[in-house]
Amino acid sequence: MTKLFSKPRKILAIAAHPDDLEYYIGGTLARLSQSGSEIIATVCSNGEKGGAGNNLGEIRKREQELAGKILGYKKVIFLEQPDQGLKANIHLNKKLVQLIEKVNPEVVFTFDCEKSLSFWEHSDHWAVGEATLEAIRSLRDKISTKYLYLFCSRTPDVLIDISKTVGLKIKAFCAHRSQNHFPGILKISSWYILKMTKRYRLATNYEFVESFRRIDLIYK
Ligand SMILES: [Zn+2]
Repeated sequence: MTKLFSKPRKILAIAAHPDDLEYYIGGTLARLSQSGSEIIATVCSNGEKGGAGNNLGEIRKREQELAGKILGYKKVIFLEQPDQGLKANIHLNKKLVQLIEKVNPEVVFTFDCEKSLSFWEHSDHWAVGEATLEAIRSLRDKISTKYLYLFCSRTPDVLIDISKTVGLKIKAFCAHRSQNHFPGILKISSWYILKMTKRYRLATNYEFVESFRRIDLIYK
């Protein structure tokens, strides 16, 4: 499946750190916002341990806001949880339950914690994916969420053509300047993103692709 939704949707995209959404699914989110979907991005931690400096968390929040503007997010919500210490525990679960119930999205994007692309995936990513799924399960009769799109997945079944938005994806990723401040790093990051998104080129005929594992909740 390579098509996006036939009509605009209310979308909640949940990640662990500033830059996760842009890095993994920025091209898809740009396409969705361009076609009228409402995207509410949620970042569980401020990424305050992703470098040096006392106020890195605040800097990264501002970078995330800028990246969100580039890709057309309606808003960014910060759950202010500890960086490099996220756990799929009752605390994070409670925050996500409150968020998901309030937003009541039709579609949720988050990390694939069950079939993660890499065994070495960042533990914060696993935790956010797991806590999000658990929150949705517990809200089964209270929300109208129809689809889960899990990214960073080992077994994707949805391949989205981002050939027209890959430039925006890279621009949004580069807005996270605190993570890309070494000389030449932006060039290397851009090259790596292009390499990653070319992975499914032969399977799809699309130059640049982002991949997802979809879980259908319609028959809940
Ligand atoms: Zn991350």
